Amino acid sequence: QLDSHPTGRHFLQIPGPSPVPDRILRAISLPTIDHRGPEFGALGLKVLAGIRQVFQTRHPVVIYPASGTGAWEAALANVMSPGDAVLMYETGHFATLWQKMALRLGLAPEFLGLSGIDDTGLPRSWRHGVQAELIEARLRQDTGKKIRAVCVVHNETSTGVTSDIAAVRRAIDAAGHPALLMVDSISGLASADYRHDEWGVDVTISGSQKGLMLPPGISFNALSPKAMERSRTAKLPKAFWAWDEIVEMNQSGYWPYTPNTNLLYGLAESLDMLLEEGLPQVFARHQRWAAGVRSAVQAWGLPTQCADPAVHSPVLTGVITPEGVDADALRRLIHERFDLSLGTGLGKLKGRMFRMGHLGDSNDLTLVAMVAGVEMGLKLSGVKLAGSGVAAAMEHFASHAAAKALRQ
Ligand code: PLP
Repeated sequence: QLDSHPTGRHFLQIPGPSPVPDRILRAISLPTIDHRGPEFGALGLKVLAGIRQVFQTRHPVVIYPASGTGAWEAALANVMSPGDAVLMYETGHFATLWQKMALRLGLAPEFLGLSGIDDTGLPRSWRHGVQAELIEARLRQDTGKKIRAVCVVHNETSTGVTSDIAAVRRAIDAAGHPALLMVDSISGLASADYRHDEWGVDVTISGSQKGLMLPPGISFNALSPKAMERSRTAKLPKAFWAWDEIVEMNQSGYWPYTPNTNLLYGLAESLDMLLEEGLPQVFARHQRWAAGVRSAVQAWGLPTQCADPAVHSPVLTGVITPEGVDADALRRLIHERFDLSLGTGLGKLKGRMFRMGHLGDSNDLTLVAMVAGVEMGLKLSGVKLAGSGVAAAMEHFASHAAAKALRQ
C-alpha cells in the first residue's frame, strides 16, 4: 500500500529550476519596496556590482525581468541587423531553440556540428562539445567577413555536455575574423567555471533559475565594449531589450521600467552566498558532485549522454536508458513512487535518456538520495544493473570527506 500523499521535501533534481535555499526564499519574502525610492537604488547598485563578479567581468551586466529565452532575444536584437549571417553550433536542444529564434528574428543562421549518429543511435553532435576547429575552418572560408557572430552554448542542459569557450575565442582569433562571440551560459553560470572577460566573450546570456539558485524570472546579458559599440548601429528593432537606456539608468541603481524587486532581493542573497563560499570553491563542489553522480552511473553500467570524458557537465548528468526502456516512463514511475523529479529527454533525445541535476540547494546526502531513487526506479523497471550506484556514490563522497578531514 503506497502513501496517497507525498510527505517531506520533494526532490527537485531537474537541471533547473534548481532547489532554492531557505536563505534566498526568506530574502524574496521581504516586503516589496518602491522601485524609485532610495532603498531600491542601494539594492540595485549592490546586485549590479555583485553579478559582475560572478560573470568575471568589469563591463556592464544587464538584468531583465524575463526568462532565459528573453535574454537570448535581447542579445540578438541588440547586435544584429535584418538578414545578418550568424554561425551557430549544434550541441543539443537549447542550441537548436536559439537557432530557431535567430530564424524567427529574420537572421540567416548557419548550423554547424558533427554529423551522423553513433552506436547508441543518438546524434554525435548531441554527445560532444563544440569542436572549435570546425568554427575556425568555417570562418577562414568567410573571406568577405559576412558572418556577424558566432553563437555557442557553454553548458548544454539537454545533454550534460560543456564546451570550451576559450578554445572558441582562439578559433575566431586564429581565423582573424571580426565576428562577435555570443555564449549561452544559462545553466553554466555560478556552477561551472565561467570567465566573460578572460575568454573574450562579447555577450554572455544567463538566467536566475540554475546556478544562482533563484526561482525563474530574471535573466542577464553580460556585455563587452565591442558588443556595446555594435549595438549602436545594429538595425533589428529593439525597445524593451535595448541595452543603452538600461545601462545608463543602472549607473544610479535604477531601471527604466519596473524591475523584479523581490527577485533582486533574492539575487543579493544569492551573490552573498556565492561570494562568501568563493567562486573556485563553488566550481570545485559542483565538479565533486558531478563525479559522484557519474560514479553511480558507471556502477550501473549505463552510458552517459556525454561521450567525451573531458567535457562532462558539473551541473547535470544525462543517462541513456537501455534499448526498449522508455526513459519518460521511468521518470514517471520514479516521480510517483519516490516524489523525485528528473529531467526529460528533449528534442532528438525524447524517451532515450533522462537527466539528473546536481545544482542549487543540494549536498552530498541529497545527491545520494537522488541516486537511490533512480536506482530503485531502474530496478522496478526491470533494468539489469551491473552494480550498485548508491554504493559507488557513497564511496565517492566518503573518500572526499576522509580527504577533507586529513587536510584539516
Ligand atoms: N538555454 C539553456 C542552456 C537552457 O538550459 C535554458 C532553459 O533551461 C534556456 C536556454 C531557456 O531558458 P528559459 O527556459 O529560462 O527561457
